[in-house]
Amino acid sequence: VQAQEDNEPYIIATDTTFAPFEYQDENGDFVGIDMDLLEAIAEDQGFEYEIRPLGFNAALQAVESGQVDGMIAGMGITEERQESFDFSDPYYEAGVQFAVLEDSEIESLEDLEGQNVAVKTGTTGMAAAESVADEFGFTISTFEDSVNMYEDLQAGNSVAVIEDYPVMAYAAQTGGIPLRFIGEQMEITDYGFAVQTGENPELIEMFNAGLANVRESGEFAEIVNTHLGDAD
Ligand code: GLN
Repeated sequence: VQAQEDNEPYIIATDTTFAPFEYQDENGDFVGIDMDLLEAIAEDQGFEYEIRPLGFNAALQAVESGQVDGMIAGMGITEERQESFDFSDPYYEAGVQFAVLEDSEIESLEDLEGQNVAVKTGTTGMAAAESVADEFGFTISTFEDSVNMYEDLQAGNSVAVIEDYPVMAYAAQTGGIPLRFIGEQMEITDYGFAVQTGENPELIEMFNAGLANVRESGEFAEIVNTHLGDAD
């Protein structure tokens, strides 16, 4: 995609529901830290873009196949992903953790033996679950969206979920899902904005320049505060 050459907006993919980084508000608008950050950076750098809420794994594939110009989706900068993506400078750090329903009898990862865990396809949470599934003797069900993952947990098909700590902490405090964390945080990564390797290098440059500016102006801290202020 050669967006900006024809003065076309960049097409940026994101997740469907990953509050407080991206989610739909009551009006159906996409809001959250990632959405506000991209908006602030685009304004600072003077580029146009359109958001495509494809879901995390679909967004990865859309960038890799050149169907979209980039993605911002609370995406961890991992060594493996660096083979197919170019990343911006990091803008946030998070790990993943297992969680169960508040009233669950599960107290530790050892208690997951013989049980099922819900994960989101293509995420570092899924990778973390896979890396310890044999050790703790649990099976894994994969879902395309966080919403379906939590539904599986609440329906009792899975006894645990795993995803990014700040997202589950936010869900527990604001979304009415009574979650309790078990085990330790794993797979701690920096979040970055991503493009396909070698494509749209100017977009990464603008993102980095804009990120530095909105950091320095205090706008980024304000954005994070607005969304996490009372849920951190
Ligand atoms: N941070 C996690 C990852 O990079 C999850 C991202 C997401 O689910 N949107 O895989």
